[in-house]
Amino acid sequence: MEIYLDANATTPVLPQARAAALAAMAEDFGNPSSIHSTGLKARALMDGVRARARRVLGAGSGRLLFLSGATEGIQTAVLSALSALRERAYRRELLLYGATEHKAVPEAIRHWNALLGLHLPVLPIPVGRDGRHDLAWLREHAPRAGLVCTMAANNETGVISDLDGIEAALRDSPALWLVDGVQALGKLPLRLAERRIDYAPFSGHKLYAPKGIGLLYVRDGAPFTPLLAGGGQEGALRSGTENMSGIAALGAVLAALEEGGTFRDAATLAAYRERLAAALQRAFPGLVFNAPPGLCLPTTLNFAVPGLSAKLLLDLFDAAELRVSGGSACSAAKAQPSYVLEAMGLPGWQTASAVRLSFGPVADEAFIDEACARIRVCGESLRESCLDPSAPGQALPADGLTRFVVDGACCYLLADAASRRAVVIDPLPELTGRLAQWLNCQGYALAAVLDTHSHGDHASSAPELLAAVQQPRGDVDGLGWPGGVDVIELGALRLTRLAVPGHTRDSTAYLLHDAAGLRLAFVGDTVMPGALGRSDFEQSAPLDYGASLRRLAQAVGPDALLLPGHDYDDRFASTLAVECAAQPLLADVLAGRLDAAGFAAAKARLEQGLALTEYQTVACGARVDAGCARACSELTLDGLHALLKEQPGLRLVDVREPYEQRLGQAPELGTGLRREAVPLSGLPNALPRWLALPAQTPVVFFCRSGNRSAQAAQALRRLGHEQAWSLSGGLALWPRPSMAADAAFAI
Ligand code: PLP
Repeated sequence: MEIYLDANATTPVLPQARAAALAAMAEDFGNPSSIHSTGLKARALMDGVRARARRVLGAGSGRLLFLSGATEGIQTAVLSALSALRERAYRRELLLYGATEHKAVPEAIRHWNALLGLHLPVLPIPVGRDGRHDLAWLREHAPRAGLVCTMAANNETGVISDLDGIEAALRDSPALWLVDGVQALGKLPLRLAERRIDYAPFSGHKLYAPKGIGLLYVRDGAPFTPLLAGGGQEGALRSGTENMSGIAALGAVLAALEEGGTFRDAATLAAYRERLAAALQRAFPGLVFNAPPGLCLPTTLNFAVPGLSAKLLLDLFDAAELRVSGGSACSAAKAQPSYVLEAMGLPGWQTASAVRLSFGPVADEAFIDEACARIRVCGESLRESCLDPSAPGQALPADGLTRFVVDGACCYLLADAASRRAVVIDPLPELTGRLAQWLNCQGYALAAVLDTHSHGDHASSAPELLAAVQQPRGDVDGLGWPGGVDVIELGALRLTRLAVPGHTRDSTAYLLHDAAGLRLAFVGDTVMPGALGRSDFEQSAPLDYGASLRRLAQAVGPDALLLPGHDYDDRFASTLAVECAAQPLLADVLAGRLDAAGFAAAKARLEQGLALTEYQTVACGARVDAGCARACSELTLDGLHALLKEQPGLRLVDVREPYEQRLGQAPELGTGLRREAVPLSGLPNALPRWLALPAQTPVVFFCRSGNRSAQAAQALRRLGHEQAWSLSGGLALWPRPSMAADAAFAI
């Protein structure tokens, strides 16, 4: 059963709120503007909910409008404030917003500031390391401010604003004051009317009401301009027939707040958070919290673990059916740092690897027990994968190739369990700690740390890696190859090298052989998947490029897998046959139709005409095709069953990482199905085997969300196996027992 710890994003709907919404749809379905009895009943319901909201929020004589949610509330408030500022003669006011506000606030300010033609300066109010507003700064700027927007509590960190301090800083200011109350609803007493707050928006779905219903508080006398004009509903302040089922559901939540018994009090919630924090610290030694818990909502924890990306932690937690969220937006290529944590001045690694855990005030002991137990299991799983720096030697022995990608640059770790030796190819400085920890944990010795060439963008990190595992560098050449040997032995595996000058003068390919012969080659930037390597650097040897490619072709043949030094487009590997089909220039060189000088001239023309980013786009192939390619290789669950009937030899491959596979249930699809576990980071190990399958044998990949499996399917297709598929939506869409909304309240 899932443990939902992402309540700051949204919450399930409280059972009594669902019942109220259903009743408003089935029985009391009237339009509150109708004057017949059905309409009057609806109006009475709506008025009752508004009265309750007034009491719960301490709204006094202020106006309370029902609208679609906080984003609409923020738009309405900002439009109202800026329309009023437009009327004022003095036009040099500042528009201020807290640097950690939800994006809806600064975006709304910029939007209406431009649309109303005000073009007033918009400034973020700095926050301190603790996430709280810099009140001295605010005091200084307040006299010139026309609008000040500050949130009551932050959605990422849970940091509670000092509203009394802000109010004092605004004492002599003419500014209108917007307080985003979204994360405070039901968790903090806001006492709206007791403060000089002019506008306060709320969203029902952050506190167990459905999405699509919200509230906006407007102080009695505060300027107001409707965002929606029309039928005159809500006293003509917000036209459009009211969302009665949403209002009824919100009413049930407000009733639960008012009557007590449903939601835990602040002290209980703080004790729950303590337990979760302790469980996290035990599971992930070295973990740091990104905001001082004492200043935060008792339901939010934001943390980072050195050496573990937010994406890794999210995948891990999700496999344990623990739903948390990344404190920073993750894209496939690079984790975007959190602007909230950046504003707080936290170090880069913390802003880029933050994870947020948030629960709602209906949580109870059993829920927290289960959450703590799963956090513990997550920690254990990492230790078994050698990803916990504090627990050396607890892992299962690893074997084969692991691929790491940092901003498009690839690094490979080749491990041999039998001899407990490993080789690293193209080490990246960002990976030194992780690789060293892994090697120490596994107890493997480094047979060599090799570079495929001297890199233009960074010095080799081989010396740091060797130092980190306390191994001497020894007698090696500039690329790390040991003196006096032609072959590096790793148990049954053997590595040889081949000079391929072109991209750089020292470019070298490393050929990996096993008992059956050549398995694959690490070719650095000599042949980027989807394009020729570059040869326009100062240290390039463009005239040698053609001869190098021909030598490589002779050594590896057309179909050997070539593993690149850069992979911007998740191609994983290529072959000369695949590249020749895509690149006439390469085919001409290999067929001897172009001499070295002609080839170099053609390449130079190509490279000079392209900026690096364009070059990368060409190198990655046509990105515009990516969506289509993905769609073409996706299978639904029904599609999988149909394919399985047609092709019983189908392979089903779990491409999640081992620490996830240990935790997550893989789907049941009947007996006799051939299943494999090949983590995406180890995909190159299995590519030759799948490419050798009969052409009609389907290989179906699955993962958590469908992203990694889509990468695997497309990589295999590009290499020529047409029957490569990905399960769309991943395990997230796999039918599982007891995923009903009630589950959230049943634990
Ligand atoms: N303000 C805060 C603090 C929030 O957390 C959110 C939602 O995450 C919003 C505003 C926007 O709310 P909605 O998307 O419900 O309109």
